[in-house]
Amino acid sequence: METMTIGGRAVEGAGTFGVENPATGRVFAQAPECSPEQLDEALRAASDAFPAWRSDEGARRDLLRAAAKRVEDAADELAALITAEQGKPLADARLEVQGTVAGLRFVADLEVPREVLADDDQARVELLHQPFGVVAAITPWNFPVAIAGLKLGPALLTGNTVVLKPSPFTPLSTLHLGGVLRDVLPPGVLNVVSGSDPLGARLTAHPVPRKISFTGSVATGRKVAAAAADDLKRVTLELGGNDAAILLDDFDVDALADRLFWGAFLNSGQVCAAIKRVYVPRRLHDVVVDALADRARSVVVGDGTAEGTRLGPLTTRPQFERVSELVADALARGATAVTGGGPLDREGYFFQPTILRDIDDGVRLVDEEQFGPALPVLAYDDVEDAIRRANATHYGLDGSVWSADPERAAAVAERLECGTAWLNTHALPHPAVPFGGWKHSGLGVESGVPGLLAFTESKVLYRVKG
Ligand code: NDP
Repeated sequence: METMTIGGRAVEGAGTFGVENPATGRVFAQAPECSPEQLDEALRAASDAFPAWRSDEGARRDLLRAAAKRVEDAADELAALITAEQGKPLADARLEVQGTVAGLRFVADLEVPREVLADDDQARVELLHQPFGVVAAITPWNFPVAIAGLKLGPALLTGNTVVLKPSPFTPLSTLHLGGVLRDVLPPGVLNVVSGSDPLGARLTAHPVPRKISFTGSVATGRKVAAAAADDLKRVTLELGGNDAAILLDDFDVDALADRLFWGAFLNSGQVCAAIKRVYVPRRLHDVVVDALADRARSVVVGDGTAEGTRLGPLTTRPQFERVSELVADALARGATAVTGGGPLDREGYFFQPTILRDIDDGVRLVDEEQFGPALPVLAYDDVEDAIRRANATHYGLDGSVWSADPERAAAVAERLECGTAWLNTHALPHPAVPFGGWKHSGLGVESGVPGLLAFTESKVLYRVKG
């Protein structure tokens, strides 16, 4: 059984809980249940490790590079665990691990800026960025290793120590990551604990962490922010999205339909920044619907371990039930499933790739985050109307504009109310580029130098002259 990592040791839980394989819906492994005392121990270990860890930046860089190498060496094991517990095809799981390795290497080379603000006859004033101490990192189930890596690299490079808690739906790959790094990082620098509710709430309410880096749903993000408010912990929240893609009237269907499709269906739509609704000029509507439906019909859906699978199941039973409910509701309200429209007739949490037309704003599948392989295609008559509808949401993660004319597309993209606006693509993460959401989609950013600084307090160092 995978173990927790606490103070550099492999630790079994006070109990265990079952982990399902979403391709079968059956429990295939047990994971450790972290007791409140074990959580205290993990936070104490992180606290104790902090003074030495923060003191040597060169050592931290070297150890992050060593950590990246160790994760790379363990890529096959990690990918197999991701596929088993999360469901994505093995090739995508490998890409997830490779992306994590590349991200850790990128961060290991980043400079933590130290800026001279003034240097005159009176004073030399510098702006420094210093670590918080212990960071609580909480991750969701859609990219368990990649999202953990996004938090670990910057938190550790800037001199913090970490207690990391994965989603109980996908704890195994993160626990394994902790195990792989156990003898690379000094004891206590990275602790990994697993458990079901209320472990996350205990971690966020605990007095030791000074910063919470959270990725998950809007509803839980609110609870995290409320828990942090009590003792003014710093928070970064990466929450859900309901990203709109707006196609302009010169959209090249043949050239771009593949990219549009995968912008929505990667990871079976379980991507925070996936395309979740498409606005299409009425003239192009039927052609675009057909092009997307062709791709949805031909994509191979199956067990992530099977050769040739491009889309796996939904990861959790609640998510499977939610997508089923949203699609059934849309159909009851007059939408047409051009292809798909329901679960696959097999065991596990498989849902048919679904393209919906005859659907409009105001239907739950359009207004809410479906987080699954069901995409509504909506017609518009006037691009002003499309922009208004794209922005008429509490979400504001990403958006995209698709056109043969980059200037026209950019002019529309600039008016989207979201953290990132893409042109002719959607959600291509890069470790140099900050990522975050407006409105209810988040607070703060991850990645790039701004994401690095989110793991620091700023400090002014003022030396008076004379
Ligand atoms: P959840 O919000 O349900 O859970 C996320 C994590 O929070 C889990 O580890 C969960 O553990 C934990 N948690 C639950 N309650 C609390 C609490 N009160 N305090 C602290 N932690 C808690 O999200 P999902 O795992 O269902 O992930 C899907 C959601 O994540 C989608 O909405 C998606 O859009 C969003 N997401 C956002 C991304 C972004 O970068 N913006 C990226 C990926 C996903 P437990 O289950 O034990 O409660």
